[in-house]
Amino acid sequence: MRRLPWRRHSAHTAAMASGTDNPYRLLPAVDEVLRDPGVAPLARDVGRAVLRTFAQRLVEGWREEIRAGELDSSGLQARLAEGGLGAAMGDLVQRDRARGIRRAVNVSGVVLNTGLGRAPVHPEVAARMEEVAGSFCVLEVDRVSGERNRRDDRISELLARLVGCEAGIAVNNNAGAALLTMHALATGQEAVVSRGELVEIGGSFRVPEVMAAAGVRLVEVGATNRTRISDYEAALTAETGLLMKVHPSNFRVVGFTSEVDPAAMAELGRRHEVATAWDLGSGLIELPSMKALGERVGGETEVAEAVDSGVDVVTFSGDKLLGAPQAGLCVGRREAIERLRRDPMYRALRCDKVALAGLEATLELLLAGRGDELPSRRMLLAQPEELAPSAGRVAEGLLALGFQAKVEDGQSQPGSGSAPGVFLAGPIVRVVDPSRSAATLAGALRALDPPVFARIHDDAVQLDPRTLLEGDEEALLEAFGRLAPQREG
Ligand SMILES: *Cc1c(COP(=O)(O)O)cnc(C)c1O
Repeated sequence: MRRLPWRRHSAHTAAMASGTDNPYRLLPAVDEVLRDPGVAPLARDVGRAVLRTFAQRLVEGWREEIRAGELDSSGLQARLAEGGLGAAMGDLVQRDRARGIRRAVNVSGVVLNTGLGRAPVHPEVAARMEEVAGSFCVLEVDRVSGERNRRDDRISELLARLVGCEAGIAVNNNAGAALLTMHALATGQEAVVSRGELVEIGGSFRVPEVMAAAGVRLVEVGATNRTRISDYEAALTAETGLLMKVHPSNFRVVGFTSEVDPAAMAELGRRHEVATAWDLGSGLIELPSMKALGERVGGETEVAEAVDSGVDVVTFSGDKLLGAPQAGLCVGRREAIERLRRDPMYRALRCDKVALAGLEATLELLLAGRGDELPSRRMLLAQPEELAPSAGRVAEGLLALGFQAKVEDGQSQPGSGSAPGVFLAGPIVRVVDPSRSAATLAGALRALDPPVFARIHDDAVQLDPRTLLEGDEEALLEAFGRLAPQREG
């Protein structure tokens, strides 16, 4: 039998200790753990090699506890009782699994939460995505002629109907859309951008750095708070390939400000035969039936308006205000979009069949006038009185479980830099567990399966019903049920 290092160590330590209550002697060998009838079947889930490392980790962990004086013979005996090894190993397997991408309950009130995957798609959209994921699909072939065609031809048509562009293409995300636009229209040349728009969005997207990655030389014009069209004009040289505007996203310049009118920028570009682009970011697609959303998210430029300005290419995210799967969309003039499509970077940034199917389905819902059914939009549109019943049920459920809970007036946020500074009024449930701090309670909620993500405010956990999806309310109360406060007596 192979002697494992921990065995030698155990024998050595056991020799030093004396008596029958030496806990080291009770430590099982890794092979014994693996042979346990409650453990062996776990190999089917994770594979034998991984299960062995878990067994080593388990025994090593117990050894540490003994060494630290936190585990004695009777404690260890209890853990080794009938089914104990299976349960302990099952727990390790389960905790490892829980580290992956899983459903989560978002009760934070931040609708487009990048950490939680931004916009959840409509159930019909999810069904279309699931259908093509597990099957062959018509992706790049014309089903009448049998000839090759382009995977996002349909997206282009749908976008044309929806926002009035001549053409559009889809890539992996809006960072990719901006990178592709800069590369296709101006690599090896100069791009002119206002100093007020050289922003960083969400940590890793910085306009100057993306420009550099696209091989474009950035020419900054104007001042942080004010830039005029004459600043753009004065910067034009024979080297200029692009005039660009960038939505400052989660950053605002207020007070004595002026930014360049996109229509004036487009006109200047046409006059000098220089391409123009506008990175719009969140991409609000508005139909007359959904005017209310525009008012709620506070003056975001609609994609159709941006296209109307005459700028060659407008870019925006699929999974922010649009409510589709993760994607970046480039829309605008046919000739410019064709240049993007011919760029080698497009091939590296294009979407897969699942994302494209989800995008098509979302755009179709919008065209059918069903955009307000999209979960993220429904959340953004919800009025306080629509959320009140859910808040009431949650508070009641929590009180029944022994928590202190009460409904208060609160605020939710669109998130992901969409409509910064906009707060949506609505009820929130304030929960206190007298036996632990708000941070401890919030941490315990995140550790459950499905994990629950709540906000902490004023030493209390806050639950915002705005971001709950179908079935989440039950999952939320079940989660709290598992953490119910220890009552005295
Ligand atoms: C969000 C945003 C991006 C990045 O988009 P992703 O879809 O997250 O890649 C780029 N530009 C602007 C203006 C944005 O708001």
